[in-house]
Amino acid sequence: MSNEKEVKTGWHLDDSYARLPKIFFTKIKPSGVTSPSLIILNNPLASFLGLTEKDLRSEEGLAILAGNKVPGGSLPLAQAYAGHQFGHFTMLGDGRALLIGEQITPLGERYDLQLKGSGPTPYSRGGDGRAALGPMLREYMISEAMYALGIPTTRSLSVVTTGESVIRETNLDGAILTRVAASHLRVGTFQYIANWGTVEDLHLLADYTLNRHFVEGVAKENPYLYLLQEVIKRQAQLIAKWQLVGFVHGVMNTDNMSINGETIDYGPCAFIDAYNPATVFSSIDREGRYAYGNQPHIARWNLARFAETLLPLLHPNPSEAIQLAETAISHFSRLYQDDWVKGMRSKLGLFDEEIGDEQLMSELLKMMENAQADYTNTFCALTYDRPQDTRIYTLAEFNPWYSRWQERRSKQKQSKAQSNQLMRDSNPAVIPRNHRVEEALEAAVKNKDYSIMERLLSVLSSPYAHKSDQAGYYTLPSPSDLPYQTYCGT
Ligand code: AMP
Ligand code: MG
Repeated sequence: MSNEKEVKTGWHLDDSYARLPKIFFTKIKPSGVTSPSLIILNNPLASFLGLTEKDLRSEEGLAILAGNKVPGGSLPLAQAYAGHQFGHFTMLGDGRALLIGEQITPLGERYDLQLKGSGPTPYSRGGDGRAALGPMLREYMISEAMYALGIPTTRSLSVVTTGESVIRETNLDGAILTRVAASHLRVGTFQYIANWGTVEDLHLLADYTLNRHFVEGVAKENPYLYLLQEVIKRQAQLIAKWQLVGFVHGVMNTDNMSINGETIDYGPCAFIDAYNPATVFSSIDREGRYAYGNQPHIARWNLARFAETLLPLLHPNPSEAIQLAETAISHFSRLYQDDWVKGMRSKLGLFDEEIGDEQLMSELLKMMENAQADYTNTFCALTYDRPQDTRIYTLAEFNPWYSRWQERRSKQKQSKAQSNQLMRDSNPAVIPRNHRVEEALEAAVKNKDYSIMERLLSVLSSPYAHKSDQAGYYTLPSPSDLPYQTYCGT
């Protein structure tokens, strides 16, 4: 007889969010669709959740992923939240998404399962509550690529088409994405409750968040200050990771910033090719508020909005509460910079810290910017000892920089081989390059050919493997693919 603990598979949904006061959500069933069809299913993620491929591919499984049926234990609901959108405060909420429940995995972890594109809700504000196939597949690909890159993120379990059209500029195939998240608590959730709830509601939300994501904080002297400090820490880590791989989120509104530190809401996001801090992809971000180089600054701004919501909990004396909040926020820049420098040291094969490292880093980035060198490929060229492959090689400043870097590496106690390995582990060979993502989407959406997307997903699933079959994916976009623009995809 086996001593192994029985692993519980199947639907095990809890509804802790539905037990919060009514102001937090509206209970509502998915609208249902006429003719669902499964386009892609994430088998490893399904097993991690304790859901078998067989279950999800069955007629009942498809009905669940399409919102035609709710699984046992589900109390579907749309969450209420607010948010600063491009700096302007608005009431929002799940306008085209529904939480179907919190799946308890075989490891005992809790994950939100959310249908995105499942029909209108009281928070739809005139929108149709639906989503188109292209943007949902895009979210699937990029979120899974982010996961493989080691960046905290929501994940994608499946995309189904609905058999119905959504009307945008043209008629498009409708689709529903099943999103998996540690939770959907956002800065905007706190903003909503702080504005429209009672102080008691705010207490409940903060306690719920602590118990769900920061349980070690419950016993602290000031748990709410701890919550603020930890959210700041996680966001500093997250944004540093984005910057290190060249990811541009595109809509860092406060409703799109998760409390647990996952990347959430893949709309007009994209990865930079040539290094340029001013890079913006989103067609609606005309002023560059959410440009690549501005992301740390915006994260700090969003966190200040989060801190404001917590003021009534931080201290009974308002001016002391403000003092505590300001001190916590003032640490963001240093935390971010420390995380970024640590990550950049690894990208340069450096194990220890030395004065002058940051200068080495900023000079490299300046060269990349001046030569419009590709960010990812420049680090790969350095990793493979092929500096001649990068555009910075021809700059006059390159040789002196390269010699200083080599000298710096040779002074470490670790060998050159160890340093090279660290670089391979820290510099992805492949990222979801915009022209590759577009190519995969075009084949999928126009021709129902999903093979290009599947191949791309497979390549992107091991970005640090540096395998020869990935080589074709290093290629840069042709000039006709530039400048790249993304659309909000609603
Ligand atoms: P996002 O830009 O995805 O962060 O969305 C901002 C807000 O608009 C959220 O409240 C969404 O739920 C809502 N929203 C986006 N698209 C739609 C849509 N097609 N129908 C209804 N609400 C939507
Ligand atoms: Mg959003």
